[in-house]
Amino acid sequence: MVEPVPRLESLPLEKCTSVLLRADFNVPLRDGKIDDDLRITAALPTIDWLRERECRIVACSHLGRPRGKVDPKYSLAPVAERLGELLGTEVPLSSGVADFGSVTRMQELGAGEVMLLENLRFEPGEEANDPAFATNLSGLGDVYVDDAFGAAHRAHASIVGPPRVLPSAAGRLLAREVEVLSTLLDAPKHPFVVVLGGVKVSDKLGVIDALLDHCDQLLIGGAMAFTFLAAEGGEIGDSLVEVDQVEHCKRLLATGKVQIPTDVVAAADIREDAPARHVSARAIPAGWKGVDVGPETAANYADVVAGSATVLWNGPMGIFEIAPFAAGTRTVAEAVADSRAFTVVGGGDSAAAVREMGLAERVDHVSTGGGAALELIEFGDLPGLQALRASQAQIRGHGQ
Ligand code: ADP
Ligand code: MG
Repeated sequence: MVEPVPRLESLPLEKCTSVLLRADFNVPLRDGKIDDDLRITAALPTIDWLRERECRIVACSHLGRPRGKVDPKYSLAPVAERLGELLGTEVPLSSGVADFGSVTRMQELGAGEVMLLENLRFEPGEEANDPAFATNLSGLGDVYVDDAFGAAHRAHASIVGPPRVLPSAAGRLLAREVEVLSTLLDAPKHPFVVVLGGVKVSDKLGVIDALLDHCDQLLIGGAMAFTFLAAEGGEIGDSLVEVDQVEHCKRLLATGKVQIPTDVVAAADIREDAPARHVSARAIPAGWKGVDVGPETAANYADVVAGSATVLWNGPMGIFEIAPFAAGTRTVAEAVADSRAFTVVGGGDSAAAVREMGLAERVDHVSTGGGAALELIEFGDLPGLQALRASQAQIRGHGQ
């Protein structure tokens, strides 16, 4: 059971209240341009709601991993520009993160105006959760709103600092993410099927264990399938394998809930033009690598998805970035989109695959947080959510 988080409605807002808004504008950039602005559009419901109430908004976010140093490559300038276009108003970007200049800028904001602070991770205090940096940041708002689901699993200064001193609430996006994921864990409609792919079993061990308690079937694809296939004694050629996870995979297979591929696409190399062939999952020739689930497996998985009431999908079925190895991921993505089940896609790469294939609108919920979604499933809570709840308790305590 995931405890609920305080809502926007609980905040004491008046005209010109300054709202420090922690968003997740960690968008993919290519040559300094935004490749996919989903993370910006996802924050709009919260920003619109606050602007309707004539608040002044000081938005902040991290972008990439500049590791505590100013690095123009990771400037939020393209985000400020795109956000301004979406809002139809100028969004000034402060040159510092939470310095004197940012405070001056904030004081100049009018009702309903929005500014953006420069990349939080230009400051070493952000990831180190430095109290002095948290204090400076908190000084930019009368209240704090966290809408950064993708960062809620990090105990960084901008996530856990402001709730200690400001009335705090979850934005619309964060609240929705928590609601959807807690439905999956608390009251999923059965049959509940989890499709899991991606690179490593070891990355997702905790999640697999947590999900096995809730779901009826687990369908495995991606590179992690080869460790399961090795656990069953199959010949996996040169496919990726985690030898130290073989015993764990054997235990998971023994639950009877786990399905693994029966056929795969094997390639001589991980290149678009490499020779590829369709083989039995248990007889991959030496020197060949499994790069996608085969058509029989994909069709089987699609059937299971079609017959389920709840579907959670995390992790692509193959190396979908390379066109000839994307068919398995596409078949599963289409099945998820066509399904009448309640469907959730979580995971950075799987969410990207669903969007690239133009299927995102037909999925009930595409999570904006990869790691955060997995940690919420595994642990049932996140540092960012705990901070918001603790803040609520504090305000109630003062009111008595
Ligand atoms: P997500 O971000 O959705 O949680 P992961 O990060 O765990 O997913 O894994 C995504 C990556 O897994 C993709 O880059 C994809 O190319 C890779 N992958 C999938 N199948 C294979 C495979 N058979 N061999 C190597 N890499 C694979
Ligand atoms: Mg990923």
